[in-house]
Amino acid sequence: MRQKGETLELETNVREGTVVTFAGGSLCEEATVTFATPRDGGWLVLVDRSPFHPESLSWPDQPGDHGTLTFPGGEPHAIVDCLTGLVDPDRGILLTDAEAIAASRSGASLQAVVLHVVRSEVDMGNVVGQRARLDVATDRRADLSLQHTGVHVAALTLNRCADRFWTKDKPERDGLGFANLDKAAVTRSSIDTERSVDTYRIGKSLRKKGFDREAFLSALPDVEDAMNSHLRGTWLGASTPARVSPPEGRLDGRRIWSTTLDGIEISIPCGGTHIDDLSRIAEISVELEPIEDGFMLTTRTRGR
Ligand SMILES: [Zn+2]
Repeated sequence: MRQKGETLELETNVREGTVVTFAGGSLCEEATVTFATPRDGGWLVLVDRSPFHPESLSWPDQPGDHGTLTFPGGEPHAIVDCLTGLVDPDRGILLTDAEAIAASRSGASLQAVVLHVVRSEVDMGNVVGQRARLDVATDRRADLSLQHTGVHVAALTLNRCADRFWTKDKPERDGLGFANLDKAAVTRSSIDTERSVDTYRIGKSLRKKGFDREAFLSALPDVEDAMNSHLRGTWLGASTPARVSPPEGRLDGRRIWSTTLDGIEISIPCGGTHIDDLSRIAEISVELEPIEDGFMLTTRTRGR
């Protein structure tokens, strides 16, 4: 586990959330530094506009981008992590780490900001107001985007292949008309540069809604086979554009991933980054395994 920094509550002059451009695929922005404070031997830096995707407080599925922060004429400083903080728009108090997570659950009206974790010996005590360039590490972003798109395709495939285990009126359906097991049961998603692991809980409420837990779990190897053969057979050949919209906006704005599958426009709320065409995927393979109160889906997506 990565060590999070100590809990911080800091006074800033920031009153608005960060404008982010990762949804549109941006990898570089010029911005003005709005706050900087020492952290873990380096600096925590806020800017008004950022191409960096930060790890979310409420659904931390995709880790933060890495990259560099460069002042005019200077050497690049490494950005080694990227997190989400919350700013009180009236007083400018910045919450990070555990306090930010707690505040995000409380429903307080706070603005989300991108926290760039900078590793640098240089004193950044006087950089507020300066212009800087932010560059995202492109290979890592591309790998995370590929895996994240793979997860969405795998989730739709899971819904399709698990549809026959719903015995009563089906609950909410996904865009393709299948019972949305993914939405109803996923409790955790963890994406890295090589794979994603999604944890699903099949509890009482799901069984009450008509999901046949025993039949599904005993057929898990068959469901896995059905998913893999579906993923080999369709969706990944021809050009299929996909996008996240809006391409830029405040970090706490709602964003939607959309594409077209089987001739149907699919939309899934998503705060992450994605590849722009499914044809960039050579293969998606999945593994299902039972866990104590449900199952785990591991998805590996390989690019062309
Ligand atoms: Zn997503």
